[in-house]
Amino acid sequence: MKQAIRSAPAVSILMYHQVGRFKRPKAHRSLYCDVDRFAAQMAYLKYAGYRVLSLEQARLGLFQEGDLPPRSVVLTFDDGYQNFADYAWPILRRHGFTATVFLVSTALGRQAPWLSQEEAPLMDASTIRMLRAEGASFGSHTRTHRRLSTLSEEEMHDEIFNSRIEIEQLLGEPVPDFCYPYGDYDRRSRDLVIEAGYRTGLTCIRGSANVSDNAYELTRKAISYGDNLVGFFWKLHMKHRRKEQAASTTRVPS
Ligand SMILES: [Zn+2]
Repeated sequence: MKQAIRSAPAVSILMYHQVGRFKRPKAHRSLYCDVDRFAAQMAYLKYAGYRVLSLEQARLGLFQEGDLPPRSVVLTFDDGYQNFADYAWPILRRHGFTATVFLVSTALGRQAPWLSQEEAPLMDASTIRMLRAEGASFGSHTRTHRRLSTLSEEEMHDEIFNSRIEIEQLLGEPVPDFCYPYGDYDRRSRDLVIEAGYRTGLTCIRGSANVSDNAYELTRKAISYGDNLVGFFWKLHMKHRRKEQAASTTRVPS
């Protein structure tokens, strides 16, 4: 497996979940971003001359060509919430920014079943197709959003392979990107992601992407509800070093 080209400039893959208007969350603050803060963050990227890359552009720059622009960033949104279509995408479009949304293939158009405390509708198939036509990208976040490392080989295979097939059928094109639910992965799940033909695997391990060991254990930076523009700036420009923080993330020695 190819290591990132060490001379590659820092590129951050930012991780968002829900974007909208929320009561101040008591827990899991990294799962929410206020829409006004999100708008300010995107305006900052534009103002500061950042290039928003697709995951494919970042992957090629990091692992093959090593010629990423000095200020580049990738935007990712986990789970496929309807509020991506309602709040985030109109702002992204206004700036001409692309983004990748990770979908849970059996939950489209439903309330997110993995969130027990709140109602959080997920985008349906027609919304996803419309956004794809407008330039958004979609990847797989498994079929049912379970922790992969807890599953049998057969279940893991189903989650990783069949979600890809289902989203490919929905979009009528290859789906090259995969994101581990809860950032939870182990060697078996990582190797199945490779075997299934994905080109990337995204974790919740914090760090800029150029410190990733390989394209199937890409590090990201979560933007949290508490991040005002100063916090956003800090995460974007600093915090490049790899940091294992969530107890659920499992680093695979490779
Ligand atoms: Zn998720």
